[in-house]
Amino acid sequence: MTAQSWRALRAKKYQLSLRLFLFLNAICALFSLLQPLYTAPSMTIPLCTIAMGSVALLVWHWKFEQQKISMSLISILFGCLWAWHITIKFARLANNDTSYLIVALLGVLFIGTIAFSNNISAFALHSAPTILVCLWLSKGAYWTGMLYCFALPVVGITIQNIIQKRYDNFAQSLMYKLLEERETFSDLSMLDPLTGLYNRRGLQSRLDTLMALDTSKHFVLLLDIDHFKAYNDHYGHMMGDQALIRVSAAIRDAVRSRDIVTRYGGEEFMIILTNTDPIQARLAAERIRQRVYDLKIPHMFNQSVATNVTVSIGIASLAGEEMDGALEKADKALYEAKNLGRNNILASEDLTLA
Ligand code: GH3
Ligand code: MG
Ligand code: MG
Repeated sequence: MTAQSWRALRAKKYQLSLRLFLFLNAICALFSLLQPLYTAPSMTIPLCTIAMGSVALLVWHWKFEQQKISMSLISILFGCLWAWHITIKFARLANNDTSYLIVALLGVLFIGTIAFSNNISAFALHSAPTILVCLWLSKGAYWTGMLYCFALPVVGITIQNIIQKRYDNFAQSLMYKLLEERETFSDLSMLDPLTGLYNRRGLQSRLDTLMALDTSKHFVLLLDIDHFKAYNDHYGHMMGDQALIRVSAAIRDAVRSRDIVTRYGGEEFMIILTNTDPIQARLAAERIRQRVYDLKIPHMFNQSVATNVTVSIGIASLAGEEMDGALEKADKALYEAKNLGRNNILASEDLTLA
């Protein structure tokens, strides 16, 4: 999106420069036709071509904005027409009035400087025919002055180009940084900050692509840490957080990278095992339960029983189910697993464990 608006801005700049160029040509040509500065008549074929051509192109470009006209081609074309016009008009002037050449040259340079303030090649192509013709017609008189008139805008435009390029590079790097950060933020907003697992938003974004596939092969595990309230009460919230982090890592390590592990609530996790079968799903649940048990996080939840942190897991199939239905079944199975004494796994009734 941002890259697109950047490109659109560049295209707009090009359009403006072209329209300004055509507009200035039209004004200068019409002015020369209607209000000639020197006594000789100004009506020449190239001048009329400039006047009509620039107006016609301006209208055409207004109507067909998307059409691109080559800036180099148009600048050299108009440059040659001006040079041609100056040659004819100079021949018509009495006693070869060289001052006309200076005035004409300044007019052409003025158009180029204003319209191509950030396009040195277009400026050079537009001005070169006139400067060459003026140098040739004046037979060397004023050559320093003429070259000075040409060199000044060239230097000015070059410096302006360098500054502009720096600004552009800066703006571009800023834009890329912005895009990168936006990506990071969007990643972060999908992850749970404590455990680094997906949060519900992350889950949703993964689910959208997953549910488009064959759901009969996916399984939902709902996992809840046993007696975690007692753990918090006994060891404090900070230790509770540490236990959550370790349990999360154990779950993540027990499943494949393509399985989706979500922190679903405080100490509840939801795992979607993708493209697997009931036996593998059951084995994965067992692996998770064992890994958490093997962490051996001490948990003395009452004076008489000393044990470590354990989890209970409910399993349901996603086959032909909406996510909500499968979750309900997994939740029911989890509830029963808890009732069976915790540190337990139970599959939903309709799940055939062949
Ligand atoms: P059960 O075996 O039936 O699941 O018992 P339980 O105590 O785990 O169940 P319950 O849902 O009543 O308690 C969950 C507790 O988890 C409550 C809260 O103190 C704790 N908990 C939830 N989120 C966090 C967390 O982000 N950090 C910590 N430290 N504790 C949390
Ligand atoms: Mg709970
Ligand atoms: Mg619990």
